[in-house]
Amino acid sequence: MALHRRWQATGDIHGACCDAKLDRSRHRDRIHPDSGRDPGRSDGYEDLNLGISRHIGKFAGDRRVLALLLLAALFIAGRSWLAAHPEHDPWAPLNLSDPPGWATQAKLQALRSDIPQCRAVLQRSEVAFSALEPAGEGDCRRTDRTRLDAYPLVPDTPPTTCPMAVALQIWKRDTLEPAAREVFGSGIARIEHLGAYSCRRLYGRDEGPWSEHATANALDIAGFVLDDGTRINVLSDWLAEGDKARFLRRVRDGACDGFATVLSPDYNSAHADHFHFDMSDRWRGTCR
Ligand SMILES: [Zn+2]
Repeated sequence: MALHRRWQATGDIHGACCDAKLDRSRHRDRIHPDSGRDPGRSDGYEDLNLGISRHIGKFAGDRRVLALLLLAALFIAGRSWLAAHPEHDPWAPLNLSDPPGWATQAKLQALRSDIPQCRAVLQRSEVAFSALEPAGEGDCRRTDRTRLDAYPLVPDTPPTTCPMAVALQIWKRDTLEPAAREVFGSGIARIEHLGAYSCRRLYGRDEGPWSEHATANALDIAGFVLDDGTRINVLSDWLAEGDKARFLRRVRDGACDGFATVLSPDYNSAHADHFHFDMSDRWRGTCR
């Protein structure tokens, strides 16, 4: 009896053993052939990994949406700011009523090759000017003759190119008048010039490049008269000490913000008695 129970127990054990083997065998059949792991079995580690991956994926998606929203907000804020500050906006049309800004010089340079656009700037800015008929022949033919109607040049106001007219307007407003008020407490009554147009080559030579004066794309300025009657002369005051010399240097330096070329007595003896301003591409950036 005891033996029988032992046999039964052994048989039970054996049976349990075999059932367990059978279960493991069935279990092995469900193991994924590639991973060698049971896809149906999910332990805590895998659950954690899966959860983190889902969260990272969700978070990465959220980050992309947040980045796009941030960019859109920055773009809208930037456009709004530029709309309120057109002088800094490279796409806004140039208007001489606006203060000088980051984009002003680039817009001025672009006008040098676009006369209709240049004259549109003067019209938009309500600057009085006359568009004169072309004149001259050959290298001295002037197709762009633009004359400022209310500019205090003496003894007359000669026609220049339109880009010169625009640069003269900016220089007077942003440099000349502020300098006169700051240094002398007075306004500008007259600007004395030595001429814009002269059909000649550089320094009057027989050959070589043509002067910008040959197309009136330049103006020579010799002095200034203030509202209170004070006279300031490049030839006599440039090397003197005091307010007149300080004013002349400020006027010269400020001109470099608008004109392509600015030559003063510092450049050479040929300019001892005047400032030469022009809107040439050839010498762009010269300021001395
Ligand atoms: Zn000159």
